[in-house]
Amino acid sequence: MSHGWGYAENNGPDKWCESFPIANGPRQSPIDIVPSAAQYDPALQPLVLKYDPSTSIDILNNGHSFQVTFADDNDNSTLTGGPISGTYRLKQFHFHWGANDGRGSEHTVGGTKYAAELHLVHWNTKYPSFSDAASQPDGLAVVGVFLEVGGENPQLQTVLDALDPIKAKGKQTSFANFDPSTLLPSTLDYWTYDGSLTTPPLLESVTWIVCKQSISVSPAQMQKFRSLLFTADGEEPCCMVDNYRPPQPLKGRTVRASFK
Ligand SMILES: [Zn+2]
Repeated sequence: MSHGWGYAENNGPDKWCESFPIANGPRQSPIDIVPSAAQYDPALQPLVLKYDPSTSIDILNNGHSFQVTFADDNDNSTLTGGPISGTYRLKQFHFHWGANDGRGSEHTVGGTKYAAELHLVHWNTKYPSFSDAASQPDGLAVVGVFLEVGGENPQLQTVLDALDPIKAKGKQTSFANFDPSTLLPSTLDYWTYDGSLTTPPLLESVTWIVCKQSISVSPAQMQKFRSLLFTADGEEPCCMVDNYRPPQPLKGRTVRASFK
């Protein structure tokens, strides 16, 4: 991985363990969620996502995905409830997707792949900052939402309309006044398990909360994701596709369900 990690044959998920040995650790993500093996836990609380549109700052192509970043210097946009204790602040959201509609999600459900997966990344305010929290076992909580190809999604289109100026790696532009709760499914039933970041450094610090209900995305909207580039201006253009890590071994972990 002389030129850093990515999703190509020479630097992709199978190679990450060379520089990040935790890739083979006990609580890696994503996983295949087997609904029949998940344990319904009546003690699991409803998710409470309170997002203030004024905390949305900018949108960035980081060469692996694109992300929308939020102001996290106060508790204006938070996740509470669900499987977590205390208050977690929204830091950013991003997506993973495929080269075609038959793949792209990181988590799978009984082996089924979705076209894309949204990740809303939050950090535990018992720690001083995102970077401090990111290495703690209870440091992060990520809400995952599957995108299923179907009708056009107008809320998602608001995000996709911002992609033209950030086609290349390293590009960034302002993205103000966006409420990410508009991207959530109407029902917030979820599976939860202890896992990791799905990109290097693959830290085992994430409480995963994966929504059972998917949101829709049209075929044309999926094409818009694929118009982004892994590469910077001046490099041989390489389309940003298949930027997902495949499911990792469960290694004895339990997946709990908030629903019967
Ligand atoms: Zn992600």
